[in-house]
Amino acid sequence: MRAGLGVTGAPCYPHTPIRSEVNPMRKSFLLVLLFACAVGALAQQTTPASHFDGNSWWAHVKFLADDSLEGRNTGSEGLRKAEAYAVEQVQKAGLEPAGVNGFYQPVRLNQFQVDESKSSLALVSKGKTEPLSFADDAFPSSRATRSTVHLEAPMVFVGYGLKIPEKNLDELAGLDLHGKVAVYLAGSPADIPAALASHYQTAEERWKALRAAGAIGAVAILNPASMDIPWSRISVNRDQPSMDLEGSEFNETPGLQLGVTFNPASAEKLFAGSGHTFAELAELGKARKPLPRFPLAVTLKANATIQKTPVESANIVAKLPGSDATRKDEFVVLSAHIDHLGVGAPINGDSIYNGAMDDGSGSALVLDMAANLKAHPAETKRSILFVLVTAEEKGLLGSKYFAAHPTVPPKSIVADINVDMFLPIVPLKILTIQGIDESDLGRRAAAIAESMGIKPIADPEPLRNRFIRSDQYSFIKKGVPAVKVDVGFELGTPEQKIFKDWLTDRYHAPSDDVHQPVDLGTAAGYEEFTRRLLLDTANAADRPEWRKDSFFRRYTASN
Ligand SMILES: [Zn+2]
Repeated sequence: MRAGLGVTGAPCYPHTPIRSEVNPMRKSFLLVLLFACAVGALAQQTTPASHFDGNSWWAHVKFLADDSLEGRNTGSEGLRKAEAYAVEQVQKAGLEPAGVNGFYQPVRLNQFQVDESKSSLALVSKGKTEPLSFADDAFPSSRATRSTVHLEAPMVFVGYGLKIPEKNLDELAGLDLHGKVAVYLAGSPADIPAALASHYQTAEERWKALRAAGAIGAVAILNPASMDIPWSRISVNRDQPSMDLEGSEFNETPGLQLGVTFNPASAEKLFAGSGHTFAELAELGKARKPLPRFPLAVTLKANATIQKTPVESANIVAKLPGSDATRKDEFVVLSAHIDHLGVGAPINGDSIYNGAMDDGSGSALVLDMAANLKAHPAETKRSILFVLVTAEEKGLLGSKYFAAHPTVPPKSIVADINVDMFLPIVPLKILTIQGIDESDLGRRAAAIAESMGIKPIADPEPLRNRFIRSDQYSFIKKGVPAVKVDVGFELGTPEQKIFKDWLTDRYHAPSDDVHQPVDLGTAAGYEEFTRRLLLDTANAADRPEWRKDSFFRRYTASN
């Protein structure tokens, strides 16, 4: 999963409970009336056992997350080895090549790296210059700074920096940002529904508004209430290069000269002399209250030297042809990202970011599913497209490229089921379905979970923006209904702490490796769920649609 810098995570929105609990006393009373349910329950008991045992899945994870693959960084030899292995596996499973060069779809990228020895950041106030430390205070983000820049500019605090017409919110109204740097606190006000908040907090949307208001740069203060990763770990990997797709059609932040990531623990420095303190703003941000907007008393002096290098990578695309004369020309996509972060700063003496769960787990599932559908064939009226994308960790780039230039006709893609870091680390009782209420596909996923005795829930932490933080979002933006399903938990349970600890300790850290505890039974159950969802979607009479009231339906119009 892509790191969620600059998003807020306070779990404030209620989720929709899907299964209402029946009081046990009333239950017996209702038995006769609930004959249909009883039949359902019987059917559930006689459901054939899982097609999976977790072992073949784990064998793929072990290969992909082995130290010899060096964390599968985009453009690296390790990723090429992983992809060669994946091609071998899908060939063995009898899938047909559906890329451009056989199974491969080449993807051209550029890498951007800040040369810190030739870069500096400082705050200037009344002729006095205070240098900022890259390690402790703030650093130029290579994701947002695409060419060498030297600037000195006034700064304006713009609250969350959002303009959301649907909610009549315009935090930039009345502010003079021409030639200035906008400083914002990552997050959104509480009265903005999760999907809208996610959408407008993407780099592309936020920058659109800031640019229209005249800004030339942006400083993101991370929101202490919602940081997945502590500053120390963010900072230690700040020299990791960023990437983007080659070609101006893919530039989401034209005109952005400089992007800076700011440590909230150092943020008081920005507000000196402004009449406000960061402590006061962070308190408001924690409660997701509206924020004041005002000019800052300090100006920003930045020298960022950027090195740009071309990078070659590839997606892998394989096809299981459908059996129906017409529907075989439609495709259900099963996707996962095969790249991870590569080699980085050592943590506890380990510098290989193996990415066993992120997303070795999803890639392994795709390979295991291919083999499983060969070993246990089932009717598939539509075709299934197995897509292993590159450069997810660099900003969903491989999937973005595939969605813009699919190797099958764009309109023929009926759904994307994306598997990324599904975390089989607790017994399988709950599945979190991102997109549950958005489309027929979400509803179908919920129904299948229920039929397996698993409770489907909406994301209990919608403000972590996870629905737009993995590859399904590339398909969503092209109008394709999508879901991402994860092993889940409910708020306030011991499981919540297990997941929280996992994020803190292992997410995007070298300890996301094969030496962590994993529940193979849960992995097998998750695979079975995915198999049923795939087959069900491939065989359904109608292709899935976004629901009429879904926020994401807007993308179908423009594609
Ligand atoms: Zn990730």
